[in-house]
Amino acid sequence: MAGSGPVSSPDPIAQLLVSFREESARGVSSRAEFEALKGRYLGREKGLVPALFLGVRELPPEERAGYGARANAAKREIEEGIARLGETLARAESERRERTAAVDVTLPGRRTRAGSLHPVTLVRRRIEEIFLRMGYSIADGPEIESDFHNFEALNFPPEHPARDAQDTLFLDRKAESPLLLRTHTSPVQIREMRKRGAPLKIIAPGRVYRNESVDATHQPVFHQVEALVVDKEISMADLKGTVEAFFGALFGAGTRVRIIPTFFPFVEPGADVQMGCLFCNGAGCRTCKGSGWMEIAGAGEVHPAVLRACGIDPEEWSGFAFGLGLDRVAMMLYEFPDLRLLFEGDERFLSQLAPLS
Ligand SMILES: [Zn+2]
Repeated sequence: MAGSGPVSSPDPIAQLLVSFREESARGVSSRAEFEALKGRYLGREKGLVPALFLGVRELPPEERAGYGARANAAKREIEEGIARLGETLARAESERRERTAAVDVTLPGRRTRAGSLHPVTLVRRRIEEIFLRMGYSIADGPEIESDFHNFEALNFPPEHPARDAQDTLFLDRKAESPLLLRTHTSPVQIREMRKRGAPLKIIAPGRVYRNESVDATHQPVFHQVEALVVDKEISMADLKGTVEAFFGALFGAGTRVRIIPTFFPFVEPGADVQMGCLFCNGAGCRTCKGSGWMEIAGAGEVHPAVLRACGIDPEEWSGFAFGLGLDRVAMMLYEFPDLRLLFEGDERFLSQLAPLS
């Protein structure tokens, strides 16, 4: 090139590159500006880049190859530069669209899936309602209990099998009164009697724990509710009338209830409450093992030793208590066969359970 002489005209390729680099460094602020710039450089008819190639034939033959190569390199640089400007513009446009996205009010709404109460909660609330109507109040207690409240004050002898580690989940066996996860809701009876004395009319619903292996009818965590009445001259007749009224309200009028003597340390006399089988109406089926009756609750008159442990004089006061499993009631009311369904949180199961009327 140096040989082309001191007066050769300014190099059009170099000039075009200089002006393109300046323009592309400034960038474009709109689609229209971008299209105008692109057309000015690359436009088929009047574009500056195609124009570079028009002059090639007027060059001396020995310069043509060199010129053509440089023009092609310039064309590539300009095309790439314009492509980059286009990408930058597209990004800016899409960010602007997101920032100012208008709400399309004609689109259908998204359905929000509402949760529902767990069947055990529904059963607990139903039972609470029934007892509240009968004048009971609802009491609560800790799930981590002392041996005193869970066993000792309830008249469990020190060697009673229920204290065995097979049933009880201990947290601290070395404490003066060992700490454990309560195995029943009865410690709430003790706490309420010690706190409020007599007379008393409470229910205590809640979660309880046993060291059980899981199967269709056993869970290490389950739910109980128990009722306690302490007053003057409370007898087994009051217990029977109350369980009849309660189970009639829960399972329907005409529900038959009977009381069979049995033993629990904290009641004297103790009783199993049995209910006419819901599944066969007393005719006998597999669920009731052919007897027509199902055990539904444990009950009895409060043992004098339990009243004494709570500072209540058993000469002056007497009481009854009964307790039942909420999970079992849920199985019966909703008629499903396996307790594990209650604890697996499977929405396909839970969503089938309508609220109890
Ligand atoms: Zn039956």
